[in-house]
Amino acid sequence: MQVGANMKRDDCIFCKIAKGEIPSYTIYEDESFKVFLDVSPATKGHMLIISKDHYENILELPDEVSGNIMKLAKKMVGLMQDTLGCDGINLVQNNGKAAGQTVFHFHLHLIPRYADGESMVTWKPGNADTKQLEELANMYLNLG
Ligand code: AMP
Ligand code: ZN
Repeated sequence: MQVGANMKRDDCIFCKIAKGEIPSYTIYEDESFKVFLDVSPATKGHMLIISKDHYENILELPDEVSGNIMKLAKKMVGLMQDTLGCDGINLVQNNGKAAGQTVFHFHLHLIPRYADGESMVTWKPGNADTKQLEELANMYLNLG
């Protein structure tokens, strides 16, 4: 049988977690989403939100699902803040191997941050001249 984009996949670890075939420390669950603790947390309390249906990355997500994930993320951010009293929270979402994606089932990282914690989710600011910025803006606008 051909596997559709949103079918659960037998070889996908997050599909197995969605189905409860692999245990997870679940924080929240409904018919569409599951939120659970990352087993190799960036900081204490790091959560992952997954859709129960299998979508590889953000490009595959139906608009309704992506909208609902952000609503759920906001709820989980509130829970994280209230529970941990963290000083900040990063939302990170990797698409593609080059971007650091290692599990190819869409997921959103919620990472609590602490004032005295190490720096992460950062980059060295680069340079761009006005010509390059104008060219890029035009490229995006022409695509849009
Ligand atoms: P990414 O690099 O964005 O694809 O993130 C994948 C994340 O999944 C990593 O932070 C892993 O620690 C996490 N992860 C992998 N397997 C499991 C699992 N069985 N339970 C919880 N988290 C997992
Ligand atoms: Zn999957």
